[in-house]
Amino acid sequence: IYGWPDSWVKTTCPYCGVGCELDVGVKDGRIVDVRPSRTSVVNRGNLCVKGRYAWDYIYSQDRVLRPLIKVNGEWREVSWDEAIGFVASRLKEILAKYGPGSVGVLVGARVTNEEEYLAGRFARVVLGTNNVDSCARVCHEPSAQGLEDMLGTGGATNTFEDIDLARTIMVVGSNTTENHPVIGNRIKLLAEQGKVKLIVVDPRRTEIAEYADYHLALRPGTDVVLFNAMANVIISEGLIDREFVAERVDGLEEFEDVVRNYTPEFAERITGVKANLIREAARLYATNRPSMIFWGLGATEHIQGTEIIYQLIDLALLTGNVGRPGSGLMPLRGKNNVQGTAIMGDHPKKLPGSVPLAQNLERFEKLWGVRLNPNPGLDGIEMVDAAMRGDLKALIVFGEDVVMSHPYREMTERALSKLELLVLVDMFHNETSRYAHVFLPAASSFEKEGTFTNAERRIQRVRKVIEPLGESLPDWQIIIRLAKAMGYGDYFRYSSPEDVWNEIRSAWPAVYGITYERLEREGGLPYPTPGLDAPPVKVLHVNQFTVGRRARLRPVAYIPSPEQPTEEYPFTLITGRTLYHFNMGSMTRRTGDQVIEPEDFIEISEDDARALGIGDGDMVRVTSRWGSAVVRARISRRVSRGTAFATVHHPEASINYVVSPAVDRISHIPEYKVTAVRIERV
Ligand code: SF4
Repeated sequence: IYGWPDSWVKTTCPYCGVGCELDVGVKDGRIVDVRPSRTSVVNRGNLCVKGRYAWDYIYSQDRVLRPLIKVNGEWREVSWDEAIGFVASRLKEILAKYGPGSVGVLVGARVTNEEEYLAGRFARVVLGTNNVDSCARVCHEPSAQGLEDMLGTGGATNTFEDIDLARTIMVVGSNTTENHPVIGNRIKLLAEQGKVKLIVVDPRRTEIAEYADYHLALRPGTDVVLFNAMANVIISEGLIDREFVAERVDGLEEFEDVVRNYTPEFAERITGVKANLIREAARLYATNRPSMIFWGLGATEHIQGTEIIYQLIDLALLTGNVGRPGSGLMPLRGKNNVQGTAIMGDHPKKLPGSVPLAQNLERFEKLWGVRLNPNPGLDGIEMVDAAMRGDLKALIVFGEDVVMSHPYREMTERALSKLELLVLVDMFHNETSRYAHVFLPAASSFEKEGTFTNAERRIQRVRKVIEPLGESLPDWQIIIRLAKAMGYGDYFRYSSPEDVWNEIRSAWPAVYGITYERLEREGGLPYPTPGLDAPPVKVLHVNQFTVGRRARLRPVAYIPSPEQPTEEYPFTLITGRTLYHFNMGSMTRRTGDQVIEPEDFIEISEDDARALGIGDGDMVRVTSRWGSAVVRARISRRVSRGTAFATVHHPEASINYVVSPAVDRISHIPEYKVTAVRIERV
């Protein structure tokens, strides 16, 4: 159906945190083409294979276009009134019987900022609970938490514009050219041209690692030791920025006490990275400034995920690589709007603007006109645990496939099967649908207005390109209908997403200066933009951190993962994504990308494959203490002996049956990057 469109509408890519802007071509009310926006400062005329070609999921034959209620195990089409009425009456019954602690809301980053804000407001105002969380729990919560704990603001410190100003870039645990291709390719090109020095920290030899001056291929789960050794080198060789540290950094002595023991030689024994490589990489990062650090889920998805982020911030503070153009700390968020979920209040302990619940209760009670529950709620991981115990009875999920995205799938399924009410608001049935009681069909991002926030804090417009298909509705309208049916219509009087955005502006001063009118005129704007006439603040922490004039170093001691290889489970499994699919694949599996990459795979080294008698393309069983999955083997030089890497996009393989349920003690992110497994040919 490609053809010359009648018109083009500019909007934002629904996939990764780069947040590329697209021109979407429309002919006779249908989307027929997508091309990179000509005016975007983010993607500068580029798009990856997902943003450019993987949009026709919206026309997939299996898209759910009418509300559904499950009766005797079968889905039955119903009217919106019946579906909303059913959900409202069941929620009222459950609240009356078990109280507000028995209900919860989970929000995926498919939805807009405005919808995220309303979902959190619905949980707190209508359900009276703080049991509200987002998909950031399973990807970048450690990034937001780590940055907030140390610097006072959970967002990236700089913008993508600074990539051109950096002299050294360190990429940690990020397969950037596949998962954030437009940014990955920009970094790769600068490295290739010799304009930037590149350090890559990753157990796998990813494409970007091939362009690195130093590739630190550490053993999975040993990041803490590696970064302590880099700090050790920086301190022992006198490479710290003394002026910056004296003026703006506390805690150096305590910090030195901890990293003193982590010599590069000690680190070599634990991480497998040669001591001289650690030394040279540390010297480069500290001296060839300004230096930026980018990171992905390879940094966060560990039992010390939040502390690993503390360490990256420590390195930046020690070397004066904060508060300056071309320097800084840049988490590469997985989903386009995952940063939005964290700051719009979909958090059990934080209100919109990512402010602590306890200290801001009164302010939001005034704004929303109700008394709020002062007790912190459960996060996404705790909600599944509570369902397992029988304490959580009802859950509403906006745009997330919990069964596919949580670890230890067998336990997640048992937990969800105990719920008395599970409501999915989504475009397609997914693995979680089998435990759901109601399905509310949601509009895609091409069918509604709103905003997304990308990985560099930039708020960008999402524009309605076509009318919602069938009877699907934008999530914000679904939330308003639910609130009305629950008797809270007066608290949800919004006529448009812009109305909602204006309330967000009044609740969160950092975006007060970002109006829809201004976004129309100037394009996407990073927050903070506090004044209507003021330019956005692109580099954070220039003269002072959000926590004050000085920040404090946070020393971190290494705690080995409980998932150490054993005789029975001799391999360490890492999970991750490919270029062609996005997260749990619910959108990309319904596009041409499925033809290119039709199934999940597990990468195994040549030596291991030979020892196990596994050929390229053989099906193998991967087994851990938690479960097993069957997946196709790919013999690969990207992984080293003893390590395997599996993709996570297809329910047929569902590698999360295998993944360990161990979580980070600070942010509760599961350790998707380290599970001890055995691998056998089927
Ligand atoms: Fe979309 Fe990310 Fe690809 Fe850009 S890099 S087109 S935002 S998936």
